[in-house]
Amino acid sequence: MHILLMGPPGAGKGTQAAELKAKFQIPHISTGDMFRAAIKEGTELGKKAKSFMDDGKLVPDEVTIGIVRERLAKDDCKKGFILDGFPRTVDQADALEKILKDLGLSLTRVLNISVPASDLIERAVGRRICKKCGATYHVKFNPPKKEGVCDACGGELFQRADDTEETMKNRLSVYEASTKPLIEYYEKKGVYTEVDGRQAIDKVTADLIETLKG
Ligand code: ADP
Ligand code: AMP
Repeated sequence: MHILLMGPPGAGKGTQAAELKAKFQIPHISTGDMFRAAIKEGTELGKKAKSFMDDGKLVPDEVTIGIVRERLAKDDCKKGFILDGFPRTVDQADALEKILKDLGLSLTRVLNISVPASDLIERAVGRRICKKCGATYHVKFNPPKKEGVCDACGGELFQRADDTEETMKNRLSVYEASTKPLIEYYEKKGVYTEVDGRQAIDKVTADLIETLKG
């Protein structure tokens, strides 16, 4: 099952990817997570990505496409993957098509988690992530049992540097200009399905799984 999870920033892609990963036992590949890990490790990739991420801009395609090509070539992707946050431009989508063709793979489905722009800033600003296991929470919509502490592993929760109202405004306009056109791109390929992301987290998960069955 080779799944592409799409949607604007804060739509719930990471939250749903964790559910699908557990259900289907396939890797969750998030370019945002890969960049954040590289920044934490202080690698060259992290140095290249940081200023773009801090401003809410896209990391250049030549950097991003390279890391995805390397990751998808690993053996664990043969049986499936959940790609989250990539592609974000038409050039990235064209590159993905070529990468998958070279690997003899194809996308099972493109799932778009649809959430209106008016909800997204509140979702991002209230997002909290576990430092240890990466689990995602929300201070209002999905709070941990104990404030600041991960339910799953007891790790400390943190707020992403780019989850501010100001940076989110940039990220949303980048989404509108560069990423939204991918809806039509995948509709034309006949692999696109939209799921209502305004529903409760478990209902969105149920809809995604139902779509994948069909
Ligand atoms: P993305 O990966 O698309 O940027 P996340 O999965 O990190 O989005 O979710 C963004 C924030 O919204 C998180 O704080 C998450 O807990 C919360 N969230 C996710 N899905 C829902 C939902 N269906 N309803 C309300 N809040 C949600
Ligand atoms: P995310 O974790 O998906 O919200 O991504 C956080 C940030 O990482 C984005 O705002 C971009 O700066 C960068 N990023 C993640 N994925 C991509 C991508 N496919 N192309 C370019 N930049 C990306």
